[in-house]
Amino acid sequence: MTFPRVVAGFLFCTVAISAAEPDWPKAEQHALDLLRRYVQIASVNPPADTRATAKLLAGEFAAAGLQAKTYQAGAHGETNLIVRLAGRDRSKRPLLLLNHMDVVPVDAARWTFPPFGAVMQNGILWGRGTLDMKSTGIMQLTALVLLKQLGITPARDIVFVSTCDEETGGVDGAGWMIQRHWDEMNPEYVLDEGGVGSRDVYTPGKLVFGISVADKQVLWLRVRATGTSGHASQPIPDNANDLLIRAIEKAKEVSPAEEPNPLVREMKDTVGTFASNKFINAIQRDTISVTSLRSGVGNPPKANVIPSVAEATLDCRLLPGQNADEFLSGIKARINDPHIAIERISSKPEDPRPSRTATPLYSAIKAAIQKQDPDAAVMPIMVPFGTDASKFRMRGVTAYGLMPMIIDAAILATMHSDSEHIPVDQFRQGVHIYFDILRSDW
Ligand SMILES: [Zn+2]
Repeated sequence: MTFPRVVAGFLFCTVAISAAEPDWPKAEQHALDLLRRYVQIASVNPPADTRATAKLLAGEFAAAGLQAKTYQAGAHGETNLIVRLAGRDRSKRPLLLLNHMDVVPVDAARWTFPPFGAVMQNGILWGRGTLDMKSTGIMQLTALVLLKQLGITPARDIVFVSTCDEETGGVDGAGWMIQRHWDEMNPEYVLDEGGVGSRDVYTPGKLVFGISVADKQVLWLRVRATGTSGHASQPIPDNANDLLIRAIEKAKEVSPAEEPNPLVREMKDTVGTFASNKFINAIQRDTISVTSLRSGVGNPPKANVIPSVAEATLDCRLLPGQNADEFLSGIKARINDPHIAIERISSKPEDPRPSRTATPLYSAIKAAIQKQDPDAAVMPIMVPFGTDASKFRMRGVTAYGLMPMIIDAAILATMHSDSEHIPVDQFRQGVHIYFDILRSDW
């Protein structure tokens, strides 16, 4: 008699947990309204003043009975926020939901819709941060709040962290939290931005969700050419502008990788044929983008004066495992010009091992995606940009990056642009995916 009763009790308990469903129309609408208010706060970095965004998120948590703590990482409003929901097995290290509240600056005159208007039109939400990454932050927040409201205790503690300065390298945000408040996080897993679902980013015409397990390394350089100034009517060979242009051309002659990166090869094996686009191009090689040029005498610069100095910044992205010092020596050797000085202006690149995918959390992510989109393939990917996840991977944490929305390449390309936007239905679906991930067993 005892045995069946125990089984019946156990079954009842399991069913009760998984049967708890949010009032979805209400939850989705609330999440969308919150996202719009979040986008309307112009948390542009620099200066990484995230007091107002942190206040908004803390208020949401407080309304659900979750006490958020905020930390001032600097004297100019650099605010980080942390919240914890206790789990069933408190001996296990937590799952960390990581997101950043800052956004990149805008050239407001170039925007069709006001960048901080959060205008909704024909199922599209426009605004800076809609993709990167306020939408994912609100999915994470909503999923966590729903667990709390429904009385669902997660498998282990979940810690939610919003940071202030991912867009400028995460020194006062993720880096600061790791340095000063590691004990409050100490995660086994991190879920951050990174991969995305798409029908054309990875391969044409097939729905694939990429879960990022590795980032490329970030290396920023300043190239400075010094020549002789003079009257522009009489050209000279050591015109700093000419020297700089030639140096940049040489720098960009990056030799292709001898062997394909193992992770990229695995991606290709999974999808068959790679799509032809800038994302796929960038994960197959070390890249250099010229991001700024500064030169000229006077403001505005005089057209008839040859300046003595011209400068450029180069944004270099290296495949995992590449040696950044060797990459830099290669550039110097190719330029080989005493008029050119090259200086590293970013911190030492982080190059952790990719996160492994044989984990219960990865399986839960895959299941949550395929519940919404049964035909979707789910695969581990490398992303061509850097994220805060690398800082955690450096500490041996398993970190996955996912924006759980289906976004085509054209929309993905609006990230950091003057037309950043997301399809609203995908945001709604992302809330479901995040909720299913958080209530799974991992
Ligand atoms: Zn981001």
